[in-house]
Amino acid sequence: MSVVSLMSTYNRLSVCFEKGEGALIWDSDGNQYLDALSGIAVCNLGHAHPAVADALCVQSRKLIHTSNLYGIPLQERLAQVLSSKAGMDKVFFSNSGAEANEAAIKIARLYGHEAKGVANPAIVVMEGSFHGRTMATLSATGNRKVQAGFEPLVQGFVRAPYNDIDALKTIAANNRNIVAVLVEPVQGEGGVHIPAADYLEQLRALCDEYGWLLMLDEIQTGMGRTGRWFSYQHSQIKPDVMTVAKALGNGVPIGACLARGVAAEVLQPGSHGSTFGGNPLACAAGLAVMKVMEEEDLVSVAAAKGRYLSERLNEALKGCANVVDIRTQGLMIGIELDKSCGELVQMALKQGLLINVTAGNVIRLLPPLVITTEQIDSVIDTLRRLIRQL
Ligand SMILES: *Cc1c(COP(=O)(O)O)cnc(C)c1O
Repeated sequence: MSVVSLMSTYNRLSVCFEKGEGALIWDSDGNQYLDALSGIAVCNLGHAHPAVADALCVQSRKLIHTSNLYGIPLQERLAQVLSSKAGMDKVFFSNSGAEANEAAIKIARLYGHEAKGVANPAIVVMEGSFHGRTMATLSATGNRKVQAGFEPLVQGFVRAPYNDIDALKTIAANNRNIVAVLVEPVQGEGGVHIPAADYLEQLRALCDEYGWLLMLDEIQTGMGRTGRWFSYQHSQIKPDVMTVAKALGNGVPIGACLARGVAAEVLQPGSHGSTFGGNPLACAAGLAVMKVMEEEDLVSVAAAKGRYLSERLNEALKGCANVVDIRTQGLMIGIELDKSCGELVQMALKQGLLINVTAGNVIRLLPPLVITTEQIDSVIDTLRRLIRQL
């Protein structure tokens, strides 16, 4: 679908949605769909959650924006709640994931110059990673398609294979400029790749040995998605810097860069900022999300539903010749097929199911954490039929 008045940034499907409720969504002709994608891991509480809607209504009648020239109590409250769940000390609020990563990259560079005295600080980033579409974050991204045509890229990134500690050790021994590692605990866009169980521990140890900041991009994996508040909490470590966005506002644009210890003290007045970042409306949404997550115990719910989904999916696709691998962490699901399968998105849409295909041949499911078991059964049923039709 192309629209004359819009830049052709996106290959859009020819459907427009009008309203939603929980995991259900309706198009402008009144057809109902089951949403197993949540606007790409954004609407984790489901569509039109009343608590978020109420918070937005109430706040928008009081005050939407004041700027960061003044105190913003809602921002301070959200920072407290968020950092206590994340085990971090301090927060900088942005409007998107890419901007949260920009803040992380700037922290790493300042830390490199000021704490480590490195003239040309470099950040290790991974093959197959995705960190956003701004110039710095696309340069950090490990996908040529995202970068092609936008050269010169931002310098100061060193590429390493994902889930390969030995390769990192070699880089560490040979490159004195490195000051940080930026990594997704599970690669999302890259095809739902889950590293070895001890990967983060090993990364932490290496970072400690060399004085690097361990910076985790939890933009897709965070906010309960993987059955923990943050995916890194499947391990025993803590990062120095962590970025969140997608599900933090359940659809209201808000991102955050969290930091701990020395990394939390790097940014000082004048070194970074954002006009909209953490404004009262966005923070009211974020606080409502945190409250619902807590009250409905959605992190445990996501873990339990993820286990159920994973078991059912493995049963349903057992013996399916074109299925190469099924990878799940909580409600983050990748089904790798032996051939590219982009057409599945349109086929599923026709069956009233919203899914995504990433990395060409990986079906990605990111259902809302409130999806019911009946709805999970229905997703799996439709998928099994479609995969067999391929
Ligand atoms: C979506 C995503 C981003 C970019 O977020 P935007 O809000 O689109 O800028 C960065 N990192 C990861 C892991 C993501 O999934």
